[in-house]
Amino acid sequence: MDTQSIIHKSAADLRVAPNFVDYEGERCRFSWEAAVRELSVEPGGGINIAWQAVDRHCTGPHGTKIALRFLARNASATNISYAELAALTNRFCNVLRQLGVGKGDRLFILSGRIPELYIALLGALKNGTVVSPLFSAFGPEPIATRVNLGAGTVLVTTDLLFERKLAHCLDQMPSLKHVLLVAEDGGQTAVPGTRDLAMLMAQASDACACEQTSANDLALMHFTSGTTGIPKGALHVHGAAITHWVTGRYALDLHPDDVYWCTADPGWVTGTSYGVIAPLLHGVASVVDREEFDAERWYGILQDERVSVWYTAPTAIRMLMRAGAPIARKYALPQLRFVASVGEPLNPEAVCWGKDVLGLPIHDNWWQTETGGIMIANTPAFDIKPGSMGRPLPGVDAAIVEHLEDGSVRVLETPDTQGELALRRGWPAMFRGYLNNEARYLKSFAGDWYLTGDLARRDADGYYWFVGRADDVIKSAGHLIGPFEVESALMEHPAVAEAGVIGKPDPVVGETVKAFVALNQGYKAGEALRMELLGHARKRLGAAVAPKELEFVAQLPHTRSGKIMRRLLKARELGLAEGDTSTLESGS
Ligand code: ATP
Ligand code: MG
Repeated sequence: MDTQSIIHKSAADLRVAPNFVDYEGERCRFSWEAAVRELSVEPGGGINIAWQAVDRHCTGPHGTKIALRFLARNASATNISYAELAALTNRFCNVLRQLGVGKGDRLFILSGRIPELYIALLGALKNGTVVSPLFSAFGPEPIATRVNLGAGTVLVTTDLLFERKLAHCLDQMPSLKHVLLVAEDGGQTAVPGTRDLAMLMAQASDACACEQTSANDLALMHFTSGTTGIPKGALHVHGAAITHWVTGRYALDLHPDDVYWCTADPGWVTGTSYGVIAPLLHGVASVVDREEFDAERWYGILQDERVSVWYTAPTAIRMLMRAGAPIARKYALPQLRFVASVGEPLNPEAVCWGKDVLGLPIHDNWWQTETGGIMIANTPAFDIKPGSMGRPLPGVDAAIVEHLEDGSVRVLETPDTQGELALRRGWPAMFRGYLNNEARYLKSFAGDWYLTGDLARRDADGYYWFVGRADDVIKSAGHLIGPFEVESALMEHPAVAEAGVIGKPDPVVGETVKAFVALNQGYKAGEALRMELLGHARKRLGAAVAPKELEFVAQLPHTRSGKIMRRLLKARELGLAEGDTSTLESGS
């Protein structure tokens, strides 16, 4: 079954000579020690993410190249070159030094995707200050929870966000010593108890020596998406840059002349690792859009900005599919040559839609907040099996394991055996702790293996197939059912735009399968369609796995990073408390 649906890649698909062609050979040759040596030697030794991402490109002809290009709805684009980014991040680093903020202190950023977010993030890293970018849509409560958990001493935000969300609850964040405000209208702010960032920047020098940081010094704090429970704060180090560098080459195929667009917000780890760090490490020009998803706008950006490498998420792809192919056909995308996706399983339908509508297959890849960078990916080096998340990248050892009673794990070597996905510890971007939860951190490891909490299987060709999160898997009449398999079967039906599947407690079979379905335009919810979809699923999956119940919904609940929140579907269905909803996308 797996091999029939392979998407073979032609030279025309790739358009440039890819970075990665020999999967087995490269995995054998690869070592993290050699990969570090590909980065530049820093003046003071050590490794600092911001120095590697910005400063090493800022002199010579590369300095004038666009590093970041900011798009806003009603304004012309703002370009920042590598040399300008170096100077601006130096200024911000000096602002922190003047305020007495140093290495190891914690800085939070709460803003939309404006230049100051990127400047503060990279400038703080230059200062050795640990950074945590937050989604600007968070309300006061989730902001305070995270700032307190991370013991933030500095907060960078905008005057409007401050007024709306923070002015009245600053006393709930006692560790904060400095609030730096950006005026959203580009002017100056004068809010008691805060400092105007523009003024501080104007007074600061644009020259500074980067703080010396080692590969194991803390750099970033990222909160997980909260898909399965309360978001956890994962701690990351400066050495993560090595993983970002390597994965930018293998999984995103970044070339110096690329125009790259990562649609993720830096409030989610993808928006920082691959929306800021990886493209800058590779010296490419990145597009940053301040606006939210809109099908016409997104196709317009891909076309007008001549985007060549695009990194997005399944939810966005499903929304483009829902918007329909005629919209896509209004745009010409001759520059686009590589498309990748992360965050959720990418349904085979979506991979094939990419080939049909964009003319390019979509490369699904897998990783987590905890892994800091891409671990398993579809790459230019091998054909795609739609529905598979690809193969482990060079430097990454993955396995399917089962838990033994003594707390250890056993690697399951037989192909197509289902078990927990595990990664051998030792890649540079591996998280180094959960904020205030050492016990949980330690529980994530068994011997040499980091346990991901995801269930998967590996086929005989070494491709990994996502089954589901351990928390979401449905146990029904002795079968273990992964929601993804059921959702993908439903997605094959032309009426279905998106599906979310849960298990409902049942006294006889343990759990029964229930599906929630959002429909494509032009289809009407009704009994006939409900029966048709149930029949379609039964035909595809068999009666034991197919849903017994199916409910139509206008939309499914998503996290802000775009993942279907099955735990919320389940809580609502069973009339239970909704739990932490801080990461729930508004309107879900
Ligand atoms: P929480 O840990 O708070 O429940 P989360 O796991 O969704 O939230 P993230 O770290 O943003 O937080 O997401 C990582 C998870 O997303 C993975 O463990 C996996 O379940 C899912 N995921 C990411 N990429 C893929 C993919 N390509 N295929 C299948 N699942 C994926
Ligand atoms: Mg998780």
